[in-house]
Amino acid sequence: MSKIHLMDEILANKIAAGEVVEKCVSVVKELVENSIDAKASIIKVELKDAGTQLIKVTDNGIGMDEEDSLMAFQRHATSKIIDESDLYRISTLGFRGEALPSIASVSNVTLKTCSKNIGTIVNISGGKVLSVTKGDARIGTIIEIKNLFYNTPARLKHIKSLYSELANITEYMNKIAFSHPNIKFTLTNNDNKILETDGRGDLLKTIKDIYGLEVAKKMYKVKSNLDDYEIEGYISYPSVNRSNKNHMITIVNGRVVKNYDLNRTINDSYHSYKPDNRYPIVVLKINVDPSLIDVNIHPTKMDIKFSKMNELLDEISTMIKNTIGTKNLIPKVTAPVVEKKHYEQFVLDFNKKEEVYEQELFVNEDLTIKEEVEDEKKELEAMYPVGIVHGTYIICQNELGMYLIDQHAAKERINYEIYKEKLGNPKKDSLPLLFPITIEYPSNEFIILKENFEFIRSLNIDINEFGINSIIIKSHPTWLPKGHEEEAIKKILDLIINIEKNFTIEKFNEKLATTLACKMSIKANTNITIEEMERLISDLRKCDNPYNCPHGRPTIIFYSTYELEKLFKRSGFENLV
Ligand code: ZN
Ligand code: ZN
Repeated sequence: MSKIHLMDEILANKIAAGEVVEKCVSVVKELVENSIDAKASIIKVELKDAGTQLIKVTDNGIGMDEEDSLMAFQRHATSKIIDESDLYRISTLGFRGEALPSIASVSNVTLKTCSKNIGTIVNISGGKVLSVTKGDARIGTIIEIKNLFYNTPARLKHIKSLYSELANITEYMNKIAFSHPNIKFTLTNNDNKILETDGRGDLLKTIKDIYGLEVAKKMYKVKSNLDDYEIEGYISYPSVNRSNKNHMITIVNGRVVKNYDLNRTINDSYHSYKPDNRYPIVVLKINVDPSLIDVNIHPTKMDIKFSKMNELLDEISTMIKNTIGTKNLIPKVTAPVVEKKHYEQFVLDFNKKEEVYEQELFVNEDLTIKEEVEDEKKELEAMYPVGIVHGTYIICQNELGMYLIDQHAAKERINYEIYKEKLGNPKKDSLPLLFPITIEYPSNEFIILKENFEFIRSLNIDINEFGINSIIIKSHPTWLPKGHEEEAIKKILDLIINIEKNFTIEKFNEKLATTLACKMSIKANTNITIEEMERLISDLRKCDNPYNCPHGRPTIIFYSTYELEKLFKRSGFENLV
């Protein structure tokens, strides 16, 4: 009887494993969170073949006695729920307490743990306890999961590739490291170190550990307090961006959450400072009264609802825009760091200088990070044009160094800000066209236009029906670029024809300003005079964001005198002239 019962139990676990243990990352997650629950301050995750051969988690947490060790592998061990925080965890992770038995049913498990100086070793295979023996007295717990899915080969096939398994695990480990900067995490795969944090509780240090020093140097600190929310964290310079959205990390009351509105707001706040298909690196900690949030209830990711969502989103948006809107965002060209084998050939003096420079960079890492982050200037400096390359790049100089300006991108930014301002503050002023424009459209497009006549007229375009499927335009807004009025009007009507169903005026204005700005700006391969260059620079300096075109490309690049000297190896050779 009990045998049958045991079979049922193993079967049930295997079925549950199908739901719960879909990927190696689910196992890593379960084990790491157990270690966190055990109050570990050091958690080491070792993988072989992205976890398919081995997942080993070592911690210095409080450990278990023999009874608890065995309990952990029984289903419904959750009967021990004692307080609200346990319930919170269960609702967020979905399957707490069911995961270990499920994992054990599809793998070989060795658990080495210790409590009150008595060590316990448990061996389990395919859900069956093979042995329970006394082990060494040591602090913490080591759990090894070998041959995950060995008795469910179909499941193993489900694992798409080792690479994507490893990517998922790394992403999870990064997030857990951000939400627990006080824990020292290590992650290795086949003995290669992927992640190591120092666990000293500093968020910027954690960013450095995960993204590297170069990224950490390019993060702005942000902070904001509302009645109901405390927001704090780091946001990347717009030039530091990634091809996917996974690097916008929000931690609410100590837990990483994935919320569509938060991510969208963060990304939108960077609009026109970076390309739309690139995403910033952002780590924001949000502290909020727990009664104002509603945690959802998804087994694999954690979403959350806020009761004062709009207030929070507005604040995040203002905070990010104010931060990047007041910074000097010119990409600086830096000389490549000279490798040892190269600079060994140089004179001793130069060698020393390089070494000192590198030492400063690496020994005083914390210091370097802080200095760079606080290096900010509000305005684009005055500069003087020298000439133009390929009718495209204006060369400028001032006492700080040399600048290259992309003249199309710069003009585009200037026009964009003018059009946006005009569109945002519509006045009743229009100019009559000398010759009214008539255009015939395919009937489906004509219908869309006709539906939007009122809206088009609100843009100061006098539009009317003119025979079958045709329209006539008699006047246009005053600010349309001179000599390009007809082209601009056609562009506006095209945009309206292709308009999305639920467009907002802001989105439309944004799109229109960007499109017109691009169309109406000097093309590359156009040589302009020094006077025209001077006017362009002066107009650019007046822009809210002189550093990017509306598509987020840079308008200007800076070579400091120091970097120029380094590039030409003049630095350290002063006496050579
Ligand atoms: Zn353009
Ligand atoms: Zn552009």
